[in-house]
Order: sequence, then structure tokens, then C-alpha cells
Amino acid sequence: MGVIENLHLIKQTIPQSVCLIAVSKTQSNYDILKAYNAGQKNFGENKVQELVQKQEKLPKDIRWHMIGHLQTNKVKFIAPFIDMIHSVDSLKLINEIDKRAKQNNRIIDCLLQVHIANEKTKFGFEPDKIEGVIEETKKNKNINIKGLMGMASFTDNKNEIIKEFSLINTLFKKVENEKINVLSTGMSSDYLIAIENGSNMIRLGSIIFGKRI
Ligand SMILES: *Cc1c(COP(=O)(O)O)cnc(C)c1O
Repeated sequence: MGVIENLHLIKQTIPQSVCLIAVSKTQSNYDILKAYNAGQKNFGENKVQELVQKQEKLPKDIRWHMIGHLQTNKVKFIAPFIDMIHSVDSLKLINEIDKRAKQNNRIIDCLLQVHIANEKTKFGFEPDKIEGVIEETKKNKNINIKGLMGMASFTDNKNEIIKEFSLINTLFKKVENEKINVLSTGMSSDYLIAIENGSNMIRLGSIIFGKRI
């Protein structure tokens, strides 16, 4: 199966209201263009250097999403063009994004990453910090908090995944308003569970492009 067929099949299984981010990390520009030419406009990357290189070479109307852990000293490289940063996980990072967005005369859409997995390795704010962070961030005029992002534990235990996605969905419902309306949860292995639990933005890589090498 090719990239285009995979995209069509996925689109048939998700509601139209769910935004699909094609996670193109490690994929070639050739494969990204295949998806682009089939109508896919939102792509996600997790490394700044790779993202910058691809943005330079690929069509300018691609909407780029930063989905991986972002170091403050690298924000300046993506601030001129990034469409959404999903992995905002500290106030220090928020202030840096705000500052660099201002230098570029931009307002950058961001999601607050919430720590929902039971693993210590996943980044994000603890759930009980989110409301305070949203309040705190109102003073940052060049950053636009659009919603929440979460990654479930790496497990086959479906009940655990449901528990984690439902936790972030409950939190999302609490903070949701006209401006805050994005819940980014769900990857190739768990996006259907994510959508059942309120997700309206899914980040799919291997199910579109095949296994990463
Ligand atoms: C790699 C990655 C994905 C996509 O993973 P797949 O399992 O290939 O769909 C989604 N979100 C984040 C944050 C990622 O790093």
C-alpha cells in the first residue's frame, strides 16, 4: 500500500471534524510531496533541524507542526514559519516562544502538552497545573494557546490508554472555549481510541508512510 491509498483509507475512518497531521519525521521529501499532492497540507516534525531543512525545500503552503520536545535555544529557528507548536511544556519555553514570535511579528499557535502517561519519560505539565498556566499565559501577546496535547503510555493495555485519553479530555472540557478548541491526542496505534475520547487533531506517522527505519 502506498502513501496516497493509506491517506484515503484513514480519511474514511475519521470524522471530517478531526484534523489529520501527517507525521513526516525521517520521511523523504519525495514521500512528503506524494502526500501533499494528494491534498495533505498539515505535517508534523519532532526535530528542529530536520523541520527547518524540509520547510526550506518543500512547498510554502504546507502547515508545519512541531510535535517533539523543543529546547528554548532552538525556538528562534522555527519562529519565522511554524504554524503550531504542540509540545509546549514549560513557562520558560512559553516566554521564549512569545519573545521570538514578537521579533517575527507573528502570533504563534501553541498547545500545552499534558503529562498523562504513567511513564516518567514523557514530557508535559502535570494536569493540575494547566489552568494556572493558561491564566499565566494571558499576558503573552504573541502566543496563542489553542488547546492541549497528550501522548498515552506505550502499552497494549487498551483500558490504560482509554483512562489517559479520557483524563486529558475531561481537562480539555474544563478549559475549552471559543479560543481554546484543539485537543491533539492519538497516534497510529491509538487514534481511534483518542477520537472516541474527544480528540479533534490526530498525529499519524507510520500508518501513512509505513514503518520508520
Ligand atoms: C512520531 C510521533 C507521532 C506519530 O507516531 P506514529 O506511531 O508513527 O503514528 C505522533 N506524535 C508524536 C509526538 C510523535 O513524536
